[in-house]
Amino acid sequence: MSKADTPPHLLEKLRTEALSELLNYRRFPLSLYLFTDYDGTLAPFRADPSRAYPLPGADRLLLELNNLENIIVTVITGRKPEEVRKFLASREIPVAGLHGLIYLASDSDKREFLGKADPTLPLEVKKRIRQIAEEYSGVKLENKGELLTLHWTPESFFSPDKTREELEEMLAGAGWEVLQGRQVLEVRPVTWHKGKAVDFLRRRQAGRNSGQEVAAVQQEFPAIYLGDDTTDEDVFQSFTRPGFTVYIKNEDDLETAADYYLEDPSEVRKFLKQIQQAAEQAINFHN
Ligand SMILES: [Mg+2]
Repeated sequence: MSKADTPPHLLEKLRTEALSELLNYRRFPLSLYLFTDYDGTLAPFRADPSRAYPLPGADRLLLELNNLENIIVTVITGRKPEEVRKFLASREIPVAGLHGLIYLASDSDKREFLGKADPTLPLEVKKRIRQIAEEYSGVKLENKGELLTLHWTPESFFSPDKTREELEEMLAGAGWEVLQGRQVLEVRPVTWHKGKAVDFLRRRQAGRNSGQEVAAVQQEFPAIYLGDDTTDEDVFQSFTRPGFTVYIKNEDDLETAADYYLEDPSEVRKFLKQIQQAAEQAINFHN
């Protein structure tokens, strides 16, 4: 789908049969990989990320889905995975953080690096970002270890465009890029994004199901992806069938490469319920 097209509304357009088809796709029991972003998707967007709690019941539903034998769930976020895990109903929900660079398996604290690159941000850029956070009130630095992120409030005099240009100039040719999202500015390695994490995890699951090495896997594992921000567009653009992608609306904007859209996290919760019903039906059908 090209950027210019407006995607259809998921709850109006998606037939229940389409979900059932996906859940019956070739393999049973495990048949669907459900990926979801956190902020703005499972949790209503908050300028202060420390107060971004999931929509009541949404994370519980996700846990129930992950406990079904035919679904595997992963929350994929720009934040540190440990930080988002704290908000979730259970440690059993796998979380991939830093745009999928670091993966925490169900119930595990062991950090697995999914990206090949070991990202080390140039020192002078780190310094400059710290300086900017101190210069402006209303701008907060989030230190993610491997990545640095600036959050700002609309009331601050901070100019994201100007800062982005400045950092881009400093980073030219260094293998890093500056990404602007919802009241957020972040530098990240050009070699990595959420789309690559999703692709890797789907292939790994397909390999596990078929007993093949990841590198030899041809068939993409069926997946659904939900997200609301710039970093999710990387997934929408690189996503392959079977499955589909869903954009959670930002204000009035529908500029997205996703297959469908949802209005807000409360519609995400409704959709998770639909998946649960379809998945339970598929299990009953096979038993
Ligand atoms: Mg988000």
